[in-house]
Amino acid sequence: MKFELPKLPYANNALEPHIKEQTINYHYGKHHQAYVNNLNNLVPGTEFENSTLEDIIMKADGGIFNNAAQIWNHTFYFESFSPSPKSAPTGNLEAAIVRDFGSFDAFKEQFTKAAATLFGSGWAWLSADKDGRLHITQESNAGNPMRNGLKPLLTCDVWEHAYYLDYQNVRPSYIGSFWNIIDWAVIERRY
Ligand code: MN
Repeated sequence: MKFELPKLPYANNALEPHIKEQTINYHYGKHHQAYVNNLNNLVPGTEFENSTLEDIIMKADGGIFNNAAQIWNHTFYFESFSPSPKSAPTGNLEAAIVRDFGSFDAFKEQFTKAAATLFGSGWAWLSADKDGRLHITQESNAGNPMRNGLKPLLTCDVWEHAYYLDYQNVRPSYIGSFWNIIDWAVIERRY
């Protein structure tokens, strides 16, 4: 079984000016593709030959975990964006955000802080636990909250490769733009 790079649901330049075409060309076309290639090289001959990405994320360690989780995380990240996004959640997800964070603005502030303060490379996450309660967490490197029994809903990639071409060292500017292209219709479907 070969892992494949999923097609993006928009053109490489569709998220401009928030994320430029060149960043998608490298981040999706080079980095994401490299994780796919690496995993396809690592898996043959191991117990994971017929596993899904989710199975590998739950069971593997080392390079196989890192590359499988990076494929999953990047697909999840890129699929959250739209050039014409729903700009705020409604319905059950909105109600849960208000219940657990006080307001949508308070949630965005807390998530932004988690993304901005994560030291080094990693991901900020919004996830739901088995009771539907929402949690904001930070994961280093390829980390994924599924390993802690949570269901991921939203993630922000804060590896420098996600923003350096567009924003150089100014991670908070990237996170500010991130909110402009998150499609809350996608996040609601995940909840
Ligand atoms: Mn990345």
